[in-house]
Amino acid sequence: MDISVVIPLYNEVESLPELTSWINKVMIENRFSYEIILVDDGSNDGSWEMIRKLSQANQFIEGIRFRRNYGKSAALNVGFAAAEGNVVITMDADLQDSPDEIPELYRRITEEKYDLISGWKAKRHDPISKTVPTKLFNTVTRRMSGIHNLHDFNCGLKAYRKAVVKNIEVYGEMHRYIPVLAKWAGFTKIGEQIVEHHPRKYGVTKFGMIRFINGFLDLLSIFFVGKFAKRPMHFFGSMGVLSFLTGFVSIIWIISEKLYHINVLHDDNYRDATENPLFYIALVAIIVGFQLFLTGFVAELVSRNAPERNNYQIDEKI
Ligand code: UDP
Ligand code: MG
Repeated sequence: MDISVVIPLYNEVESLPELTSWINKVMIENRFSYEIILVDDGSNDGSWEMIRKLSQANQFIEGIRFRRNYGKSAALNVGFAAAEGNVVITMDADLQDSPDEIPELYRRITEEKYDLISGWKAKRHDPISKTVPTKLFNTVTRRMSGIHNLHDFNCGLKAYRKAVVKNIEVYGEMHRYIPVLAKWAGFTKIGEQIVEHHPRKYGVTKFGMIRFINGFLDLLSIFFVGKFAKRPMHFFGSMGVLSFLTGFVSIIWIISEKLYHINVLHDDNYRDATENPLFYIALVAIIVGFQLFLTGFVAELVSRNAPERNNYQIDEKI
């Protein structure tokens, strides 16, 4: 099979007939063998009944239904697991992305051998309250992930080589960072394609302003997990040892300074150690340092017991 189109959806009943018939048309015109996987993320507006109807009319349409709303990442993850096409395309259900982009996306994955092509909504049709934070979000993500050639990480329209979707795990709200997940998994040929973006035709957006806060926290955890999950001691331990040593050296200094004043300069009224501000800094540094070290140690024990501690991405064997 050439293409699997994976579509997460939550209460998008009005869009579905138009979307699926449009995809259908594009696939037939280009003679692709394909499947459309509609993942219903716990809709309660009759989306599932619509999917049932559509899949009866078209054998290439499949539906997967969550019992409740788990979020877009979960829907994508399940869709990825089910996908059988050599190229997997994801798109939003709200008709903001155009299926006409599919042939070019497919060509770039198969002919130009990209692992992942991410859509870039160069000209957006969204309110300014969304476009400005999105710019910021993309800049920060670009910096932290080192994927410098992407402008729009969170675009719903993306294309993947099959191996990519089978080897990454999208959970929580990580759908915003799929290129980053792919990069950590070793799929580094990541490209971009300018795509058209349309205003939402039916229904309302499913994400509020809270997305930006959650998004940033997710970025931190992705970054941290990607870099240190397999070796937490290197992160906590180094900071801990550094802090502890700073404190320890300061204490030695404070004590010798005091002894020096008493024994050598015979200054019996020299200030108490506790009157030296450095004393408190040293105290805090020693305690914090010790705690950081312990955190690293405990995290190391946890990761030693993690079932996937020895999961590495193997590309080929001969
Ligand atoms: N979506 C989903 N589960 C959710 C929220 C959203 O499957 O909990 C789907 C939604 O139906 C749409 C896509 O994710 O197909 C993108 O959502 P939306 O268009 O609301 O986001 P926006 O375009 O405003 O970023
Ligand atoms: Mg949308």
